[in-house]
Amino acid sequence: MARIAVIGAGMGAMAAAARLAVAGHRVAVYERTETYGGAVRGLERDGFAFDTGPGLLPLPAVYRDLFIKTGKEPLEACVELVQVDPSARHVFADGTELSLPNASRAGVVAALDEALGTGTGARWGDFLVRAREAWDRTRRPLLEEPLWPNWQVLADREPYPAVPHKRLLRTRRAGTLAEVGAWELRDPRLVALLESHALGYGLDPRVAPASAAVLPYLEHAFGTWYVRGGIRELARAVYERCVARKVDFSFGAEVVRIRDKDGRAAGVELADGTAAEADFVVAGVTPGVLDRLVREAPVRGADEVAPQHGAASRLTVLLALRGGRPEGAAHRTVVHADSRETELDALFGTAPGVPARPTVTVLRPDDPELVPDPGHEAITLSSVVPAQTDRSRAEPEVFDLHAENLIAAAERAVPGLHGRLLWHEVCTPADIAETTGAQGGAVPAPALAAGEGRLLHPSNSTAIPGLFTVGGWSHPGGGLPHAGMSGALVAGLIVEGPEFRGSQ
Ligand SMILES: Cc1cc2nc3c(=O)[nH]c(=O)nc-3n(C[C@H](O)[C@H](O)[C@H](O)COP(=O)(O)OP(=O)(O)OC[C@H]3O[C@@H](n4cnc5c(N)ncnc54)[C@H](O)[C@@H]3O)c2cc1C
Repeated sequence: MARIAVIGAGMGAMAAAARLAVAGHRVAVYERTETYGGAVRGLERDGFAFDTGPGLLPLPAVYRDLFIKTGKEPLEACVELVQVDPSARHVFADGTELSLPNASRAGVVAALDEALGTGTGARWGDFLVRAREAWDRTRRPLLEEPLWPNWQVLADREPYPAVPHKRLLRTRRAGTLAEVGAWELRDPRLVALLESHALGYGLDPRVAPASAAVLPYLEHAFGTWYVRGGIRELARAVYERCVARKVDFSFGAEVVRIRDKDGRAAGVELADGTAAEADFVVAGVTPGVLDRLVREAPVRGADEVAPQHGAASRLTVLLALRGGRPEGAAHRTVVHADSRETELDALFGTAPGVPARPTVTVLRPDDPELVPDPGHEAITLSSVVPAQTDRSRAEPEVFDLHAENLIAAAERAVPGLHGRLLWHEVCTPADIAETTGAQGGAVPAPALAAGEGRLLHPSNSTAIPGLFTVGGWSHPGGGLPHAGMSGALVAGLIVEGPEFRGSQ
């Protein structure tokens, strides 16, 4: 039985902790805030409840697997999973509306043909077939296996089988997601639909590799899920599973240093001056925080993937409304920006700033647990904003103004919204930085192949024996399923050793 110190109680770290405890190890989690879940938080006020982190769960199989491997009760016995159908409604810049049914190819093709015109469904359907090929080629190395030592293969090879495109006497293949849209989809609304999937993860479709096609595929193939009571309930269930497996949690316990002995990680030191010895240390924090914790030695090997830079953040606006949720309202509506180009220039240009007319995701869960009574509704709005680095730092009041822009955009999804508004709360990148410790409130994106490896994440094992990294900032990247998988990978690497090649 080894002693394992886990830094942070984010979803990736807790997934690793539960698995390691089941494998017979003594696991202690040190979390700097007063609660578990990291980014997965909620806010309650006046009988209303909201998720302030992710509001939907893709690929629930990852958490199903965690619950199967760590105890008798399956995930469904601990939380109520609800499939979101339609998976999304889209309101495009030209006013066209589209409702995409959940995980049904025929249904999606029919819905597209009806909303956008005959032929668009087939074009999207053919794209999904190619996206599936990219998914099949990268699923194992980018989700289920530790990062390959020869990760450059993933960085150099584009797994998306782009359609040859004739241009100025040359035949080219799409290298970026935006080129996939322009050359293969050809309808501005289909392009907007495609690009919104990358943007939702904080990625610029103009530079995201074509392999980002796996993001819409993933949603199409595995559906979109909601957890009754809010996604925070998933964090609660994972925390309770950890506690049931005798994982020890210390809250208000900031790790300030990782101890090493004879070149091996040997424990952690806390801000209050206490220390804990350990045989393995698992760090669920950002690369910047990790660097500060390990002063003497480089954490990453010389040929390691560089930590992902320039990640975007989120602006979230929580709305308490009078009047009940209308029957049949879509759970998720994406209100597209009037000009995606202007939005992307603002977000990812040389002087990153908050776009005045952003793409806004409107979440309207059909969940009585979120409202004081059926005569009220709780709605969450979110948009991508730059992480607050020195180059893009905005004053808090600026976000209040931008919150008004989000509410104005949401009016297109929820007519009469302004008249129903009781109050609203604004969650800024600074709030995300507070809950996760990520500088500027940056939110990590999932790992993607190609693009010279810019969207790969550092491996879970580090240059320091006994020190592993877990969660959204290490392989296989950000997002609930990916962080959950990183927990499985770290547990495998510790329990089975460096030869571990993945568990699924
Ligand atoms: C607003 C928002 C929206 C999001 N939307 C989506 C979405 O739609 N879909 C999706 O898949 N993902 C989304 N994400 C991302 C997703 O929530 C995360 O990638 C996922 O929860 C994984 O988190 P993690 O394991 O990296 O831990 P984190 O959530 O980053 O938590 C890290 C934890 O470590 C703790 N910590 C940091 N430093 C120390 C220290 N020195 N000592 C002790 N503890 C420390 C922090 O306090 C925190 O609890 C969103 C995130 C946010 C913030």
